[in-house]
Amino acid sequence: MIAFAKQMKGAHPSAAEIANRRWIYIPYDRFTDRVGPLTEQPPTDTGIVIVESTAKAFRRPYHKKKLIVLISNMRHFALEQQAKGASVLYHFSEKSHGQALLDLQRNKNLPSFTCMTPAERELRLDLSVARQSGLGMNFVQDETWVSTTEDFVETYGPFKPGKAYVMDRFYRRMRQQTGILMQNSLPIGGQFSFDADNRKPYKNQVPVPTPPEFPPDAITQEVISFVESTYGHHFGSSSNFNLPCTQNDSDLFWQFFLDHLLPNFGQFEDAMRDDQLQLFHSKTSVLLNLGRLLTADLVRDVAGRAADGRAPLASCEGFIRQLLGWREFMRHIHEQTDGYRLLDGHVPQEVPSRPQETSADQSPIAAGAYTFTAARDPYAGATPSALHASLPLPAGYWGVKSGLHCVDTVVGQVVEEGWSHHITRLMVLSNLATLCGFSPRELTDWFWVAYIDAYDWVVEPNVLGMATYADGGLTATKPYVSGAAYINRMSNFCGHCRYDPKKSIGVDSCPFTALYWTFLERNEAILASNFRMKMPYNMLRRKSPQELVQLRARAEEAVAHLQSFQRPGY
Ligand SMILES: Cc1cc2nc3c(=O)[nH]c(=O)nc-3n(C[C@H](O)[C@H](O)[C@H](O)COP(=O)(O)OP(=O)(O)OC[C@H]3O[C@@H](n4cnc5c(N)ncnc54)[C@H](O)[C@@H]3O)c2cc1C
Ligand code: SF4
Repeated sequence: MIAFAKQMKGAHPSAAEIANRRWIYIPYDRFTDRVGPLTEQPPTDTGIVIVESTAKAFRRPYHKKKLIVLISNMRHFALEQQAKGASVLYHFSEKSHGQALLDLQRNKNLPSFTCMTPAERELRLDLSVARQSGLGMNFVQDETWVSTTEDFVETYGPFKPGKAYVMDRFYRRMRQQTGILMQNSLPIGGQFSFDADNRKPYKNQVPVPTPPEFPPDAITQEVISFVESTYGHHFGSSSNFNLPCTQNDSDLFWQFFLDHLLPNFGQFEDAMRDDQLQLFHSKTSVLLNLGRLLTADLVRDVAGRAADGRAPLASCEGFIRQLLGWREFMRHIHEQTDGYRLLDGHVPQEVPSRPQETSADQSPIAAGAYTFTAARDPYAGATPSALHASLPLPAGYWGVKSGLHCVDTVVGQVVEEGWSHHITRLMVLSNLATLCGFSPRELTDWFWVAYIDAYDWVVEPNVLGMATYADGGLTATKPYVSGAAYINRMSNFCGHCRYDPKKSIGVDSCPFTALYWTFLERNEAILASNFRMKMPYNMLRRKSPQELVQLRARAEEAVAHLQSFQRPGY
């Protein structure tokens, strides 16, 4: 830790600094001084508290690259703020964030901290427990979001289990409210969504530009060594680390997307390749989720490109929908359902829901409204499973080769990079899990461990909602499932696979197709009445009893094959 410690030298606050500055706690995912409390006074009047907690990092075997990008950004942010004149208290702790802050406040006699309401429920929980023990902390609105809880509630009404939340409604509201891609209250181009234009496979029509390199500096190299020595048993590879860890590099990373990738983002948004990881995707999720990039800035820049004609409207609209629509929407769904626990029927008082943005004295948490029962692990995730899926997640997800080229390719990308793009997450990894009936909770926990951009507020609604239909249609109007035909159309995977995507029966047939038909059969009572499933069920009904017997046998064999490999221990 020599490089970092050397540069942080002398940053320990004096008694006068403790007394005279406003002390702000920076959570591990909010490295920004472009919005929020850091903008409200000069750095020379600001004190910053940052906690690097091993307790949190040990909670799950997080991908090594996730720990590296997070810790290195944390250390660089501390140095950036110190250079601007803020007094920085950078604290290493084996305890939880909440407990570490409480100790620090008591030992150093620090005043109450200000903090933007954390996005992660897990951190809200930690801080709530510490506040019950006396931690002084005021929550203020997290200004990295474009929308508020009120926007969501005004759109759909108060949360009710069993109700369907169609994202498009929220997206239209956000377009109206922000004026992004709007003219005279009407959507530019005459429609809110150009999704239908964004469905092309990639067949080298245009070259994929090479992204800039961000080789690790001395501080990041120290973090890599630290992660290897402390969390060496965790999932994934730390080799060839190449992600931005400073504000400057984050801005360069974004600029590259705007200039080189955005023009083709839309048309190839759903394409998958075994020789291209990123294609025209922005890979901004990791930096957005750390606060290095902000949605408001990104959508403004992209709308600017649509306005000056430097990128097609369909591409720009597609990108803006992901941020102004999906990202904000998913965060609200998580908050409104208390991380899907309200769907499980858990008693809400057991866990802290959104801490009110209010002073410590008025907070329901400080007032003891939330109590924790010893019987229930407060970190245990919700376990909805509308389709009664409960099989264990097989070894293939943990890097053991399954023989399914699409799955092995995407898992290989995840082992190496801790990242793959949206369609591979949805239509390969989650599709397989849903078709086979693997436990949605186990799949969620796997995504949480395996992806560098995973935090509870985003991974839980995406996996339990959109990807597996475990929430019974709260966030998706039908399950996102397909046989081999979709994967074959949208990727080059099948051409390099030992299975034949055109066959559904026989040892060399693609398992996805037989699994698809048996999935429909197995879930007929739940799904057949869904209007959007009418066509597949009509096709299923046209199959002969003999074909159905063969499909069932092939599907059973495929699941048994996947379950036959021993899972590595993490
Ligand atoms: C099963 C599954 C798990 C997922 N887990 C995560 C996760 O842990 N963390 C995460 O940030 N995203 C998650 N997503 C959403 C999405 O896949 C990623 O945000 C996206 O692939 C990140 O790559 P990108 O930055 O290149 O995205 P782009 O394709 O360039 O899109 C731009 C941005 O839009 C936002 N976005 C797009 N779709 C979503 C969405 N459904 N939910 C939230 N934000 C969205 C992201 O911030 C992303 O950076 C998941 C999706 C699925 C289907
Ligand atoms: S043939 Fe089937 S298993 Fe092989 S890559 Fe295509 S979809 Fe995947």
